[in-house]
Amino acid sequence: MKMMNITPSNINQVTYSLKELQDIFSAMNSSIIVAITDRTGKITFVNDHFCKISKYTREELLGQDHRLLNSGFHPKSFFREMWKTIGKGEMWNGEVCNRAKDGGLYWVKTTIFPFLDDFGKPYQYIAIRVDITAQKDLKKITHIAYQDELTGLPNRRKLDQRLEYELHQSRCTGKKFALFFIDVNRFKNINDGLGHIIGDMFLVEMAERLRNVDYTSNSIYRHNSDEFVMILNDVDRIEEKAREIINVFNESFIVDTYEFSASISMGISIFPDHANSIEALLKNADTAMYAAKSTRGNQYRLYRPNLDEINNQWLLLETKLHQALRRDSLELHYQPKINLKTNKMTGMEALLRWYDPELGQMSPDRFIPFAEECRLINDIGVWVLRKASAQARAWNEIHNLNLRVAVNISPIHISTPGFAAMVQEVIAETKIDPHFLEIEITEMSMLDYTEDLINTINQLRALGITISIDDFGTGYSSLNYLKTFPVDVLKIDRAFVQDIVPEKSGIAMISAMISLAHALNLQVVAEGVEEEAELNVLREHGCDFVQGYFFSKPLSVEAFTQLIVDSCM
Ligand code: C2E
Ligand code: CA
Ligand code: CA
Repeated sequence: MKMMNITPSNINQVTYSLKELQDIFSAMNSSIIVAITDRTGKITFVNDHFCKISKYTREELLGQDHRLLNSGFHPKSFFREMWKTIGKGEMWNGEVCNRAKDGGLYWVKTTIFPFLDDFGKPYQYIAIRVDITAQKDLKKITHIAYQDELTGLPNRRKLDQRLEYELHQSRCTGKKFALFFIDVNRFKNINDGLGHIIGDMFLVEMAERLRNVDYTSNSIYRHNSDEFVMILNDVDRIEEKAREIINVFNESFIVDTYEFSASISMGISIFPDHANSIEALLKNADTAMYAAKSTRGNQYRLYRPNLDEINNQWLLLETKLHQALRRDSLELHYQPKINLKTNKMTGMEALLRWYDPELGQMSPDRFIPFAEECRLINDIGVWVLRKASAQARAWNEIHNLNLRVAVNISPIHISTPGFAAMVQEVIAETKIDPHFLEIEITEMSMLDYTEDLINTINQLRALGITISIDDFGTGYSSLNYLKTFPVDVLKIDRAFVQDIVPEKSGIAMISAMISLAHALNLQVVAEGVEEEAELNVLREHGCDFVQGYFFSKPLSVEAFTQLIVDSCM
């Protein structure tokens, strides 16, 4: 009987006959999976457990090589390396994913011992395997449990672990770390306006951009829907990192067919300077984030103890706006719109004004986004519509005029179910002729192609209301909606009017916009006309209406009444 040496050293020098080995392995009633192959890899022996796990019979296995079990999981180089090692007579260790006869995958921790002949060349291999499928699955489950499904970032659970670790480290070493709380401004507008699929795609893109800021340290976490957290160990770099993150949002987002800009608010707190527990650290970063938000878009704030006070002020602002609405202390100003063919005023835009005795004069640019955020915008919209309609009807009746009043409606409001019915009620209540009512909606509202929105617009137009697209040309590059949407008027944003003089390319742009609008049977209003030279260019290129300081600033009801009286004389 031929005797053989088994290498390497742990079982070195022990000599067994093949038969003896096979007997040992067969007798071993354990979970160990054993196979013996010849020099070329052909299977010459398998134990029962091998058959059990691979679901092949012994007959099916003998004479085959291990490629029978190939799962396709490992690259070819994996097995090449293995063969290189055992071919040299060295032991090989590794974790291998195999495929059973029924197609199921299983993982085995594998050790292969070469049997060497008298010349030191392997002529036979013995492979001993242990089933580790359960551990592998566990690992996979663990991975999923700690990973955010949408963005692939580590999730909140993982963040908790990390924070506990950092807290411990910090307490031991005295080193500080910072927590950045990042929140998308008005994410709801993206989600409600463009649909949650676009919202999701935006978040994925955003996560990718954040990951790029933090490419080395794996420290960005998805905390909640549109909230992200970053951990920074080098607190000297807080400002630099905060800027980097803010800069990420300078570039607009292109999601599906939409292009839009987004901004974030960010709050930062430092352990242990600002908190002595994880909860407090998160809460204070959140407080700082709110403070950043109240100062409007794309800002960051480091936590300070009196920030709570600032946030209380925000709450105060909300309360005050509520009150102003209830007590009817908001005001509308009116800016004339001039027909360039007749040089006559044909209507006016109602613009909201809010004066608070404590806070002073608040610009709509400041409080409208705030009202959208705290959901007061719908009530405000109804108030404006009612007030402006009643006022326009009164002017037209008293002075025997045909002025059309334009009201700005937030995208959030117009997408609210029942909007058209509400407008109808206001018309009935104020008795305005709907032909003297115009609704201005920004391009943002147009981006969501839902049937509901088209229906709303159709209903409004069926009543005789004019629909115009406000701020045309700003930010959104999808022109498709112009073909799809039943609108009447395009309002070219002031930014383009400003570009007319003295720059010639601005003229080409305006001219193109006017031609486009006319080709689509839309009338054109140019906003923010301040100079005669601008007016002349607009007239020359066939613009229908203008609005701007050149003719008049927005006027109070009294001043506008005076304007009417003066121009009637
Ligand atoms: P908008 O709808 O684009 O209104 C035009 C803004 O440009 C007004 O600012 C107006 O005062 C200003 N403007 C008019 N002519 C000129 C000009 O020749 N030069 C310059 N530099 N500016 C001019 P305002 O009143 O501060 O309103 C700002 C924005 O707030 C509005 O922009 C509109 O988006 C929003 N807003 C105003 N009132 C309401 C409202 O009742 N509801 C809603 N949802 N938004 C409103
Ligand atoms: Ca407007
Ligand atoms: Ca505008």
